[in-house]
Amino acid sequence: MEQNCCCCGRPIPDNEYGTVRLKDGQLVCRDCADKTRILYPFRYTYVLTKGTIASGWTRKGEAIYDNTIQGQRIDPLKEMTAEKFRAAMEESLKAAEAQAALYAGAKAVIEVDYVRRYFANIGTKEKPKYSKRKRFGVFGKVVHGELITGAEVVVSHKDKEYSAKIEELQDRVGTYAAGAPVGMASAGKEVIIMFGQGMDFVYPGDTMIVR
Ligand SMILES: [Zn+2]
Repeated sequence: MEQNCCCCGRPIPDNEYGTVRLKDGQLVCRDCADKTRILYPFRYTYVLTKGTIASGWTRKGEAIYDNTIQGQRIDPLKEMTAEKFRAAMEESLKAAEAQAALYAGAKAVIEVDYVRRYFANIGTKEKPKYSKRKRFGVFGKVVHGELITGAEVVVSHKDKEYSAKIEELQDRVGTYAAGAPVGMASAGKEVIIMFGQGMDFVYPGDTMIVR
């Protein structure tokens, strides 16, 4: 059954990605949840544990195992009631406003953690064939504003400016895995930003700006 967002009143379709069910059973839509990540980000319990598959290398005759990531992403919003969430929203909007003063003029600002190239398998599982098409993912966090698919990001290095258009925005779940596509991400949200071009001008710690 369709339910309305307890904050903005928008009807939320069943199984819409990013919907949060609060402690008192009420629902918060993905857009409202997103706006509070600036103060209520996800937290992770991920740990690296010894994997079950040996990596093929040995040390002093003993097999070395690959690491496996275990744990989960925890959403602090799930611990709130609707009343508490509305207060959190108010607080978050104020925080976003204060943040905007730091980045005057920018529509969005992203802090970069790292960049990965993706190779799509266009063959079969048995006979893999990898696409030569350039597809890069920038893993980072939105620190200001609202990021949307299609926006152009700008990075500066040594007085030179580079730009690229966002092909897809993905939710980042704290592992290396690709996340579900999202249309928009607000300040405080961790994202994987996909580009259909080389991104060798982006380095860890860089600031990407949408003007
Ligand atoms: Zn809402």
